[in-house]
Amino acid sequence: MTEKGVSRKLGLDKNALDELARALGKEYVRTNVEDLVCYSYDATATRQRAMPEVVVKASTTDEVATVVKVADKYDIPVSPCGARSGLSGGSLPLYGGIALDTTRMDRILEINAPDLIAVVEPGVVTKRFQDEVAKHKLFYPPDPGSAEFSTLGGNVAECSGGMAGIKYGVTRDYILSLEVVLPDGRVINTGSRSWRTVAGYDLTRLFVGSEGTLGVFTKITVKLIPLPAKVETVLAYFTTSADAVDAADAIILEQGVIPKTLEFVDSICIDSVRGYGGIEIPEEAKALLLVDVDGDPHIVGRERLRVEEACKYNNAFQIVIAEDAEKRNAVWQVRRVISPALFKVAGKKLNEDVCVPRSRMKEITEEAYSTSEEYSIPTACFGHIGDGNIHINFLYEDGNEQQAKVYEMLDRITKKVIEVGGTISGEHGIGTAKAKHLPWEIPPQELELMKSITKLIDPKNIMNPGKIFVP
Ligand SMILES: Cc1cc2nc3c(=O)[nH]c(=O)nc-3n(C[C@H](O)[C@H](O)[C@H](O)COP(=O)(O)OP(=O)(O)OC[C@H]3O[C@@H](n4cnc5c(N)ncnc54)[C@H](O)[C@@H]3O)c2cc1C
Repeated sequence: MTEKGVSRKLGLDKNALDELARALGKEYVRTNVEDLVCYSYDATATRQRAMPEVVVKASTTDEVATVVKVADKYDIPVSPCGARSGLSGGSLPLYGGIALDTTRMDRILEINAPDLIAVVEPGVVTKRFQDEVAKHKLFYPPDPGSAEFSTLGGNVAECSGGMAGIKYGVTRDYILSLEVVLPDGRVINTGSRSWRTVAGYDLTRLFVGSEGTLGVFTKITVKLIPLPAKVETVLAYFTTSADAVDAADAIILEQGVIPKTLEFVDSICIDSVRGYGGIEIPEEAKALLLVDVDGDPHIVGRERLRVEEACKYNNAFQIVIAEDAEKRNAVWQVRRVISPALFKVAGKKLNEDVCVPRSRMKEITEEAYSTSEEYSIPTACFGHIGDGNIHINFLYEDGNEQQAKVYEMLDRITKKVIEVGGTISGEHGIGTAKAKHLPWEIPPQELELMKSITKLIDPKNIMNPGKIFVP
């Protein structure tokens, strides 16, 4: 595969298949159509599909290296994947070839409390890892909404964010070192086991967020912090979105609290989740904030009161406090079910994850709602308001007319986001879904520099081709 978009199909190349089967065992080299179909999509709402020609399930670094060497030898595209929960089409084998599944590599190799680090394989599911480190009173904060099923390899490749980003940062902030199989099969180790290093260029940061285009992660060394002793949740209901946005500002700017989570939910989302799985929400609620505060118990108590104060001052008409795990779990249900519940409004959903400087948040939600009215396409906003990362969901029915409208709306919001100094993706990555818009945000010189890095590391363009940059 020497040119973007020009794929040499593996189909007839029996030698490559034989080499893969010899190295991994036939069981883990799958070509039956059922397997291929399962690897032809991810959670991207636009539902783009692309079939691989073979699914390969590797269980060790050596196996990954062998697969990549075979791909290099026979010029076959390789698309790494984890749980395929991505929301930008990142794992889709756009030009066929090999879907390289790393979920069998699911061992937690080390949890080192004195060093405050852990070493894991890429297929470890995020929540399982968080639960394991919590047994050692340690905390791995990156917390995507998909934590129950997404893998750490996928999280690193997308630089996933999630709920706790406002206080604790995102995946990038916790990755110390990576073992990576490069596109020619060489194995490298970036970074260090120590919390700091300035030895040479920061290759770890280059690979984090590279969306499977620069190599396959086979080991990940992460930084851990002590587990906060207490978490409490404030759920505040408002009659307008504007009041909720003002309250979010007041929590940070007036009350001086950086909470663990600061989530915003608008009226379309509320109407969708009302009654979903028995969730009860007051009729007059048109927006809500979900705020977690964590830390020492006496600090948590004080910060919680400040959050309540900011919400009341900005006209919250009802506040629910959840102090224990069971009650917290129940109130968080409102946020967790939004994605599936929105399908009650329309059969299709295009989910954007723009991020803007915090002070421009209101402009962006207002633009989303006015565009929604103009085009008569319901548009729901929710997400990580604390750090400016908001999910704008266009809800539409199948069919060309509505789809065309949605893509026009998307272009309009994208322009506005860039105009106010924001970015087209705060956490879901570019993949195929946002490749068209990347040049709108990144100037030509910088874009060329990025492409030249890909060319240097992957001159044959076999590693997840067609992603990030428009082919
Ligand atoms: C309901 C729901 C909620 C979500 N909430 C959030 C959220 O709050 N925040 C957020 O950031 N995302 C969220 N996501 C998106 C998604 O879960 C994340 O992007 C996640 O990190 C993907 O992990 P995965 O294991 O499913 O990776 P996949 O989807 O399989 O792959 C994602 C990317 O990682 C690459 N990749 C996978 N494994 C490797 C590897 N071993 N080496 C190199 N590259 C690899 C793939 O090539 C692809 O480019 C959500 C998704 C869903 C469905």
